[in-house]
Amino acid sequence: MKRQAVNPTLGELGLLPRIDADMSSLFAWLEGAKLTRQAQVLDHEIESDLPGGRALAGGFAFAQSTGRRQAQPLRTDELKELKEKFKDYVPQGLTKEALWSAASEPRSAVRALSWEKLPADAMAFYRPFHFPPFDQWGIYLLVQPLLRYHHDLMTQSHASGLFSPETLMHLVLFEVFNHEFFHHLVESTATTLEIILATQGDPQPLYLRHRQAQRLNEFKHPHAPLEEALANAYAYNALGFISRVKLGFKTASVKAYQRAVANHWKVEPAGYCDAGHYAGSGYVDGAAALLGELLSQPDQMNKVPLASIAKNVMPSGFSAFVAKPDIPTWLVGSPEELKLFETLVPAPNEAYTQLFWPYNTSLYDQFLQAKQAEEKAKRAAAKTRSS
Ligand SMILES: [Zn+2]
Repeated sequence: MKRQAVNPTLGELGLLPRIDADMSSLFAWLEGAKLTRQAQVLDHEIESDLPGGRALAGGFAFAQSTGRRQAQPLRTDELKELKEKFKDYVPQGLTKEALWSAASEPRSAVRALSWEKLPADAMAFYRPFHFPPFDQWGIYLLVQPLLRYHHDLMTQSHASGLFSPETLMHLVLFEVFNHEFFHHLVESTATTLEIILATQGDPQPLYLRHRQAQRLNEFKHPHAPLEEALANAYAYNALGFISRVKLGFKTASVKAYQRAVANHWKVEPAGYCDAGHYAGSGYVDGAAALLGELLSQPDQMNKVPLASIAKNVMPSGFSAFVAKPDIPTWLVGSPEELKLFETLVPAPNEAYTQLFWPYNTSLYDQFLQAKQAEEKAKRAAAKTRSS
């Protein structure tokens, strides 16, 4: 006789959670716990206090079947094909010297650049899953405002030799997406806290409450709405991660763009314009204050080490409930707008998650690396002379 397994399974022992880790289980739980607020489908005029309401300024019919397309990651063979197609395509309108000065001295290189900068939320928005129907949540990239903004920036920076139309659109898209992704991090953080509070028999609608408190500026934070300042800083820092790799065309472009963005935060609305306080390591202090606001205890960051959580746990990129490539992301626009956008950004998902572009930049890369080696040799020679 065949013996049965001796060890009982985790399920038999009652050690498996009955609610699993997928998003639909989470959504069902949030709704059951009354932590959500039913909202409208985004296909007709919406209330201005709902996510996206302000960006759309009401009356913008956009959930047409042709006008909303989900940006998916490319398969390996599709990516290979794309690289093959663009392997001889060299971005135009750039000067090597401008790129070199952006790489070596970004501050002075972009000083003359005068941009009419717009906040990310004028071209995109995040619809939280706390506002069902749940098939509507995600990041919405509004292609028409993005194209218009890109056109204006291109006109304003044409003479600088720093950006080609394609590279500038990639940089704008990356910045805007990462700003919106931060709003997902905040919602993920609030959800984590909501779940923990519920285990203590004290379920509280932290997220909905936070949105309202933020709108009414109840915390009187000098950089309110703090979430927007941090979202701008998060996007800026995400660009910084890319510019840390070996010097080349991309790192030089990123440095120039990052500097230009930081120079122009001041023209953005309240909160957004205060991002400079939270760029780089300042992010931790801002995130600690935001945790205090989420918990409706803004002064608790001085009594308990919320900064430790902000630094090591959340809201960090790793604490997102859905990772960047997988978050539902909608490109919203007419078929003509989407087509034009695609000529500028052939792989949107890869562009906004990794700043991938398929172009041939080896000429620029070689120039920048040679220049860097030359400078290094010059410095070494000067050092030998002076010692
Ligand atoms: Zn925002």
